Amino acid sequence: MIDLIEFHVVEHCNLNCKGCIHFSPLADKSCISPKEYRSDVKRIFELTSGNVKEIHILGGEPPLHPELNKILKLTRSFFKNSEIKLISNGILILSQKENFWQTMKSNDIHLSITKYPLNINYQKISYMTKKYGIKYSFYAPSKENSQWHFPIDLQGTQNEQYSYDNCRKGNNCTNINIIKGKLYMCPISCNIKYFNKYFDKDCKVEPADYLKLNEIKSVDEINEFLSKPTPFCRYCNIDGRTFENKWDITKKEISEWT
Ligand code: SF4
Ligand code: SF4
Repeated sequence: MIDLIEFHVVEHCNLNCKGCIHFSPLADKSCISPKEYRSDVKRIFELTSGNVKEIHILGGEPPLHPELNKILKLTRSFFKNSEIKLISNGILILSQKENFWQTMKSNDIHLSITKYPLNINYQKISYMTKKYGIKYSFYAPSKENSQWHFPIDLQGTQNEQYSYDNCRKGNNCTNINIIKGKLYMCPISCNIKYFNKYFDKDCKVEPADYLKLNEIKSVDEINEFLSKPTPFCRYCNIDGRTFENKWDITKKEISEWT
């Protein structure tokens, strides 16, 4: 049984938090196509026989996906017994149409909102979820109104094993991350391309930093991959990480990520 798989369905975001560890404020506007998504979900289903405890559909901000309902239905069509959570910052939730709420209900999708200091009517969201019989919770990796700062060592001089060991101990962002045919162990290596492009840097992602879904033979291969550092871990300055910084909108300054 695999505990958790995170599918990235939208790269950009409508909130743009300072130091976002998915690099969404720097990302291109991009949504996975239902065809690509189906291929990824199907492959993970084949490999796991559906034995995945929890699935997160995240971004960026998933409600920016114009075909979000299709994405939700596709996920449930393969994973009948998994807890499926839609992770959102909540901004667009109350402007969703009836078919969103119906899709959430009929596919038993749990709405999980990350709380930021925004003027969002959480009580109304709670009311809507109760009205439609949808599971609802807050997703809060750190304290409300605080923001993680995960510095990148641009020279890549960190000890990979040390970074990996302390990364897995110190937070919960290391998981199976799936994006467009590839499996990564965290959102950092997965999305660093946006940081590199925006700041003209060259933090290298090597073939050993991910698995190609169409080349994976078994779940054991995934577990083996997750059990040791990847080359990219040398870019993560673990001791420099801080977790309770004041939340703010990004100024897109490199210091937010270094
Ligand atoms: S932390 Fe979440 S809400 Fe904020 S920019 Fe990143 S993806 Fe968007
Ligand atoms: S690259 Fe390694 S150390 Fe950095 S976040 Fe990912 S798993 Fe953790």
